[in-house]
Amino acid sequence: MIYQTNSAPASECSSVSWRSPNRLMLYGVVAILLIAAPHVMPDNYWLRIYTMTGLYIMLALGLNVVAGFAGLLDLAYVAFFGIGGYTFALLSSSQFDIHLPFLLVLPLAAIFTMVIGIALGSTSIRLKGDYLAIVTLAFAQIFKLMLLNLDTPVNITGGVNGIYSFDPIHLFGFRIVSPIAYAYLIWLAAVVVTIGSFRIKLSRIGRGWEAIREDELAAEAMGVNTTWMKLMAFAGGALIAGASGALFASFQDSVFPNNFGFSQLVIVYCMVILGGLGNITGVIVGAIILSILPEFLREYGAYRMMSYGLILIVLMALRPQGIMGDIGFLLKKQKRPDKDDSGELRASTDLYYDATKQVPAGDVPEGRYRKSERVMLELDNIIQDFGGIKAVNNLSFNLHEREILSIIGPNGAGKTTLFNLISGIYPPTSGAIRFEGADITGLKPHKVVKAGIARTFQNLRLFNKMSVFDNARVGRFCRTGAGPVSIILHLPRHKLEERETDQKTREILGLFGARLTGYRFDQQAMFLSYANRRRLEIARALATGAKLLLLDEPSAGMNPQETNEITDFIKTLRDVFGYTILVIEHKLNVVRTISDRVIAIDYGLKIAEGTYDEVACNEQVIEAYLGRKKQTSC
Ligand code: ATP
Repeated sequence: MIYQTNSAPASECSSVSWRSPNRLMLYGVVAILLIAAPHVMPDNYWLRIYTMTGLYIMLALGLNVVAGFAGLLDLAYVAFFGIGGYTFALLSSSQFDIHLPFLLVLPLAAIFTMVIGIALGSTSIRLKGDYLAIVTLAFAQIFKLMLLNLDTPVNITGGVNGIYSFDPIHLFGFRIVSPIAYAYLIWLAAVVVTIGSFRIKLSRIGRGWEAIREDELAAEAMGVNTTWMKLMAFAGGALIAGASGALFASFQDSVFPNNFGFSQLVIVYCMVILGGLGNITGVIVGAIILSILPEFLREYGAYRMMSYGLILIVLMALRPQGIMGDIGFLLKKQKRPDKDDSGELRASTDLYYDATKQVPAGDVPEGRYRKSERVMLELDNIIQDFGGIKAVNNLSFNLHEREILSIIGPNGAGKTTLFNLISGIYPPTSGAIRFEGADITGLKPHKVVKAGIARTFQNLRLFNKMSVFDNARVGRFCRTGAGPVSIILHLPRHKLEERETDQKTREILGLFGARLTGYRFDQQAMFLSYANRRRLEIARALATGAKLLLLDEPSAGMNPQETNEITDFIKTLRDVFGYTILVIEHKLNVVRTISDRVIAIDYGLKIAEGTYDEVACNEQVIEAYLGRKKQTSC
């Protein structure tokens, strides 16, 4: 239903050309350095540090998935590292005389750790911030105690003495025993994790995590299944930690409880924070610095650990976003999605949509949509009781297809609560909500969006650090479904979905002309003007592919000219694109201009319903607004 802008196809946008000559040259140089490095190390000591650096990169990137991308303060991370290590130890040693081949043990260790990660995640995912940290820290401590004590009555973990002497690795006819062979193996794994991290970050999953990190409620209300996504972050982090643990165990040829203690956790967190949460390049640089730096501080013994604390304090004070900058660091290096090779803008720069110019003839019957009699949304005796306060009280109404219905009422009347109930932020105390005939009462917000209802917020809830383009792209989350495997392997489904996402997002932002296109495509939402942020919220809601829009005070904070523009735009959304719209608005001139019908509520009760004139002249409405009976006739 969205019209075509004069923008070019968006095919290259997300695949920003890792095949470009400069990039290929960069990858070639990195590959040569990685291949040559083990041979130019001065001695085995430095070769070991080199190998451990690769391992720390892997570990830090795994933590970056859960803490950086999804923003979950997971302090059990080092326990997952240990679970991978001990799983390897138990399946490749004389401990229980189990000698599975490496190619089986590595995935087994990683997957087993992931399962434990999912189990821990599913019990603690509802917890936030400090609480999640406490639960996961407790898990890590319990794990370490188990390692120390599970040597009696049956010796499982070897207690404080750990487990040592593992089967040598055989890979494709090669015996991996020499330090150089381990260096190659571990760095190969680090490269695989790096590529996977980049691909995930630039995908729907990466955007979904970033949105959760920015504003979990808004992410859910834009169609992101936040519970599932957080669980996926836990699982992804645990998978990488488990694989790292297995490689570490094999490399060290032993595992001890102390390898997986709190100090190890601090080191990996320092690497991620030093690089910048969510910033892959930064995390790699952070891991390299903090793997090598301590070697120069070795003679200072216990003070070495203090250096990590010091680094953290200095960073927090001077550069909280990490040494490499913000989460969007790499994205900013991409080609601007709205520019062609000559640097010309290729998205529409018209101010707003111009219906007379741009609707392709024949696309819209008689050029206009009108309200139909089909009921789209039904509210049936809805009550929302907040511990005695009935914010919504026995409210019933129908909304017809392509109708614009305005909800008015004084402050505290229950308007926003009504939107929260329809959009699933909380379930009503009683009553039923139906959308296109289906019962959606109590559905989670992301399911309501998927059903076809999207909203904006009275107090703007954009993903502030994400670009304009990415804010709107998050809206496409619920219309796409590529999973991690499809994304990491760049399978056709993922590529097609990304192309469609970019194309649709650009079309929708194009509706707002120069307000949201041009250089603004990759401007962070927090730098937009207030009016543009309101526009972006509408664009984000449109991007979800919804049929019904819930607009909560769309013109709030706008000057008269901007108010006129947004008023026209809301009408255009219905008249030209066929949206059904429920709008909360305080500015009565806007209500008068756009509304087919108006409902006034006060103290959660419907006090009037009808055309604008009927409602505006209603005595109860005037009394609710003015606090007294009307003095003059309407
Ligand atoms: P405004 O025009 O000022 O935004 P509103 O009509 O949107 O007001 P609501 O925000 O829906 O009003 O609030 C309706 C009533 O419900 C108010 O008395 C408010 O204090 C109360 N309320 C809203 N949300 C909650 C909540 N989560 N817990 C308890 N009370 C709430």
